[in-house]
Amino acid sequence: MINYLYREQNWKSQLSDLITDPQELLNILNLSQDDLLSGAILASEQFKLRIPRAFVEKMDISNPKDPLLLQVLPHHLELEEHADFVTDPLGEEQANHLPGILHKYESRFLLTLTGACAVHCRYCFRRHFPYQENLPKNHDWENIQNYILQHPQINEIILSGGDPLTISNQKLETWIKRLESIEQLQTLRIHTRVPVVIPTRLDDELLTLLKNSRLRIVIVIHSNHANELDDFTVSQLKNLADQHITVLNQAVFLKGVNDNADVLVNLSKRLFEARVMPYYLHVLDKVKGAHHFDLDNAIIEQIYTDILARLPGYLVPKLVREIAGEKNKTPLYGVTVA
Ligand SMILES: *Cc1c(COP(=O)(O)O)cnc(C)c1O
Ligand code: SF4
Repeated sequence: MINYLYREQNWKSQLSDLITDPQELLNILNLSQDDLLSGAILASEQFKLRIPRAFVEKMDISNPKDPLLLQVLPHHLELEEHADFVTDPLGEEQANHLPGILHKYESRFLLTLTGACAVHCRYCFRRHFPYQENLPKNHDWENIQNYILQHPQINEIILSGGDPLTISNQKLETWIKRLESIEQLQTLRIHTRVPVVIPTRLDDELLTLLKNSRLRIVIVIHSNHANELDDFTVSQLKNLADQHITVLNQAVFLKGVNDNADVLVNLSKRLFEARVMPYYLHVLDKVKGAHHFDLDNAIIEQIYTDILARLPGYLVPKLVREIAGEKNKTPLYGVTVA
């Protein structure tokens, strides 16, 4: 078993001390297979390895198939070319109206304040996204404000990735205050994986900031496996519910990680213990480098049918796929998975 050295450490020091070297990661996990290391070195040249130590502490030692490790360890299969796996599967570059804004759905848009994430998930559909050209500077605020005012149907802003909880509370506060000043906005949503990989990010300062906002706060975390939700993480997440913040989870259906009804049932139950409601179960986006996580439609349907039968309805995440050009995520159950 691993020693818990990092999980309760201050989040800023954790963010500045991420594991980025494949050799170091494999040493910690006592994995000495040469092919793992050479694959990780090659694949990390395209999308860097980046993992908080607190997340590694949740992995099993000496298990190359650990479901948490598989999500973050670069693999030589990422370098395979597959014709239908492309760099921008969702056509996001088209929906980029202003720096920082990704507006595809009517009442809400994504606002990207940073291109950085605390962890690099190998299946991420944003792994090829040209963030650095797209970040809003302070002087862009006026344009964003005008954009919102010109679209009165917008009532919710979603801070998204990169990961908005990698930025300081002070900077978050600046943006929250700006958004609060626009009367038509009712809800602020934060899409983040940081509470799962660095649970101390949910510090008192952040909780106070969120609690005092006039906006309804919704936090959507991203967890794919119950092993990510150890007791400390669960207790941190419960603090959000204590502040009457709505907390939801989105997961991605991933071969080798959670392509199994027991795993998904346990995930939902564990989320519920943390007072987090399952929201979406995403079918993998066909992004270049992620083909080895892809599942057959027949398997997806079979597992999903199973979890529908085994869980109360409120613990079943919505199975969805994102289709470029659609006005919302496309629900898959009851329609043909295509
Ligand atoms: C997923 C997504 C949203 C949020 O959609 P919900 O169904 O409301 O969760 C908004 N904008 C974009 C571009 C998205 O990809
Ligand atoms: S955007 Fe989310 S899924 Fe993608 S790398 Fe960052 S944390 Fe992982």
